[in-house]
This record gives sequence, C-alpha cells and structure tokens, in this order.
Amino acid sequence: MANFGHVYLIGAGPGDPGLLTIRGKEILERADVVVYDRLVSPAVLGMCNSKAKMVDVGKMPTHHKVKQSEINKLLVQYAQEYPQGIIARLKGGDPFVFGRGGEEALELVDAGVEFEVVPGITSAISVPAYAGIPVSHRGIATSFHIITGHEKAESNGELSLDFENLAKCQGTLIFLMGIANMDFIAKRLMECGKAPKTPLAFIEKGTTPYQRTVMATLETAGETIVRENVTAPAITIMGGVVELGKTLAWKKNLPLSGKRLVVTRAAKQASGITARLTALGAEVIETPMIETRAVEGSFNWADLANFDVLAFTSTNGVESFFTQLLASGNDIRVLAGKKIASVGKITEKKLLEYGIRCDYVPEDHTGEGLGKLLVSHVIASEQGERGNLIDESRILLLQGNLADDTLLKLLPQATRWVVYETLPVAELPEWKREAVESADAIVFASTSAVENYVKMTDARPRTSFCIGRMTESAARKHGFGTVTSDETTMDSLVKKIAEYYAGGRA
Ligand code: SAH
Repeated sequence: MANFGHVYLIGAGPGDPGLLTIRGKEILERADVVVYDRLVSPAVLGMCNSKAKMVDVGKMPTHHKVKQSEINKLLVQYAQEYPQGIIARLKGGDPFVFGRGGEEALELVDAGVEFEVVPGITSAISVPAYAGIPVSHRGIATSFHIITGHEKAESNGELSLDFENLAKCQGTLIFLMGIANMDFIAKRLMECGKAPKTPLAFIEKGTTPYQRTVMATLETAGETIVRENVTAPAITIMGGVVELGKTLAWKKNLPLSGKRLVVTRAAKQASGITARLTALGAEVIETPMIETRAVEGSFNWADLANFDVLAFTSTNGVESFFTQLLASGNDIRVLAGKKIASVGKITEKKLLEYGIRCDYVPEDHTGEGLGKLLVSHVIASEQGERGNLIDESRILLLQGNLADDTLLKLLPQATRWVVYETLPVAELPEWKREAVESADAIVFASTSAVENYVKMTDARPRTSFCIGRMTESAARKHGFGTVTSDETTMDSLVKKIAEYYAGGRA
C-alpha cells in the first residue's frame, strides 16, 4: 500500500468545546493538518496542535468556499504530503449526520488512504437538549426524525422531501439547514394535514454563548423567522416535546452570555482566566501575544550563595528559575535561609506551588512598591534594627529581559539575573483573525501584550480590560477604551469584567 498519512473524520460537536469527544481532542492535539468547516467553534480550533497546518474549507451560507469535490481531493493530497502524518478532517456536529463525511470516506477508500471516523455529538439532539427540549418523551413522542431542509431534487429543483409522510408522522421532526426554506416547509406540511397549532422551536447557535430559542407554531413559523430575525446556524424542532422546553429550559443566561472576549496572555497562563470567563458565559478567544523562553546558562548557580534575598516579579520568572534550578542538578535546599520577595499575589501563589512562602509582598502589588518595601528594610538596618537587616548588595532580582528598571533604580546595588526572555508571536493565525475582529472586548495583562497586539492586527475592540495602570496607559495610548481592575490579580479583573457587563454597558 502507498505511504499515506492517516485521515480522521472527526465530529467537533455542536459548538460548546466541552462537547468534543475525548478521542477527538487527543487526535487534534497531535494533528499535522486540520481541515475544518465553518461551523467548528474557535474554542475547538484552539485545542488543535499549535503547529498544525490549519485549512479552512468553511462554507458560507451563500457561497461555497471550497467545493465538496475539492475537499475530497484535498484530503487525499494531504495524506500524500504527510506520509507519516495525522490529517484531521474536523466537522460540526457528527461527520455522518448531514456532514458529507460519507462522501469524503468514499474518496479516501478509492485512493487507498486509511481513515477512521470519530463520531461527534450531533446538533440535531444536543441543541434541543441545551434548550431543555427532549427529542423523545414518554407519552408525547415515540420517535424522532432528523431531516435536511436544504436538499433540492435534481429533477425539478424543489425540496426533495416527502411532505405527505412527514405530515403523518407522529414523532418529533428536527430540521437541519432549514431556516431559509421553513416558510415553505411549514405550508406544505399544513397542506398535507399537519395541525397548524403544532408547537415548534427555532434554536439558534445552540450550546454556544449565543444560544437563543424562539418558540412558534407551524402556522406562525414563517412570520416568526422574519420578525425575530432567526439566522443560521439554527435547527427547527416540531412536535409536542417543544412544550417541555418552557419548563425544562435549564441553560441560564449568564453575566457574560453572548460576549466574545479575546484573552492575550501566553498560552500556559491563559487557561485560568479563560475557564473563569467561560464559566460566566463568555466565548473566549485565547490569543497569546508573546512566548516566553527560559534563558539558560547566563549565570552561575554557585553565585546564589552571594545573595540573601531573591525577588521575583512574575510567574514566568518563578517558573523559569525553578525549572533551570532543577535542570542544573540543584534543588530548593540551596534556597535555605534566604528571604523571598514577590511583586504581588499571583507571583506569591506561584511560589507557593514550589513550596515557598514569601517574606515580602508589597501592599500595592507593583514593582515600585516592592522596591520601596525592600528599601525600607535596608534603611532600617542602617538605623541599627538588625533583626530585619537587608544588605542591598545581597539582593538578587530574578526577572525577564523586558522587565523595566524600576527595581534596579530603587536598589542600585542589587544584582539582576535575566531568567527568561519574551518573544512576540509574529502573526495571528488566519483562523483566529475573524474571531478576534468580531470580539466585544480584549483582555490585556501586560504592556507588552498591548504593544504586540497592535503590531499584529488592526482590529480594535471598543473595550479593553487591563491589569495594572501601566497596561491601562499603554492601551489608552493605542486608542482602546479601558476598564482596569482594582487589584493586579486575575480575580479582581474577572470581577471587574462581570460588573462591567452587569452594568448594561455592553
Ligand atoms: N453534521 C452536523 C450538521 C451539519 S448541517 C451535525 O451533526 O450537527 C448544518 C446544520 O446543522 C445547520 O444548518 C444547523 O441546522 C445545524 N446546526 C449545527 N450546529 C448548530 C448549532 N450550534 N445550533 C443550531 N443548529 C446547528
């Protein structure tokens, strides 16, 4: 057999990234190529291997971006280009439910390319579930039917639906891709005898932060779509079960529902804030602006003995320091007896993860505050209070290459080791561009994030949420509206964001 990569037809689920299967996630994390559709949510794309080639074959509702026959060929072509590789074909919902996955699989078989199918949670069932509508229910519906509202017959160009039989059907009817034709479909069903009062619901962007349910009946279907401006992607569900949705609608309207927020932290730091904002209902687009890399071999570990106080001004500094400390064959016992200083609470917490408590943390969580705090102890020692003595020349600052000189200016006799360096991420991946451009707001945690962001894209969300006054002024300088957290902590920032939108300033 020819030497081909392995293709996986993966269902991405209906939108909520939590509804991607574990198997699907595992493959996406290892994929070399990801060929994806328009319906796949940015959060799922964000789970893909960051080194993967991302290929958008998304179809817009009006024009087909890449023809199906071309997609089929593309999959074979990538399997050839990446002989040992993993090619993920990522589709909304389930690949075999109106996903044309079968056609792609046939083409792969023809070409002799091995493939696997990773089923996904179809929108047909999960979207009603998120609206509190069970597709079957004892005593109400003993079957459910999933129907395309889109497929036209080749002979006459009319919808190829068997309206006579559908109208007779007592089960729940679930239409995918049917919004544009729903007025027609509803009329035909009534002509064929389906009761005009049959309840129905349109569920738009189900399972996402933008989910909306609109209730109607068969006879008011068409006018309701126009009045409420129901837009794709949406499903239409018809039958007695729809009434249950009035009692069972469980998905709460959260403070950040319907908001798209860009988080500009480095990938490994973003997950905390992302999880919290997501829990409040937001859609979060993680867009790291910088990558940090440990600087190795630029100092001598034996020199640690020359210092009594180690001062950290970032979690990156803490991580890089300890990673390198361990890599050098040392361990935390070399810190025995030393005093530890931290710029703020987040860094303090990070140190605690390494089993280290801080001796000095300034009240205001700023570099200047830390400098002044240490200086106050140096002065105290000169006045003879030897208990808290700090010899300024025995203070070691562990910082990144971009750290400003605030601390060094206040403590000129201290030594600085650059333990990590920050490199800007050069460009926004194509798949993120659209998501970032349509965001409601952006979260900045550092001045460098602001500076890199403006280099990377012209998109300027109206609002920026900033940690720290320095970040705020950088954002203002570039024309962002700013809302700044009271404290320099993520908790404080998340609270601020929730308050901002609760105040109706959306
Ligand atoms: N394979 C997909 C369906 C593809 S057809 C699946 O199994 O879900 C595309 C149609 O699916 C859309 O027109 C819409 O009717 C429906 N759909 C997909 N995701 C949806 C969502 N999040 N909310 C509402 N409808 C959705």
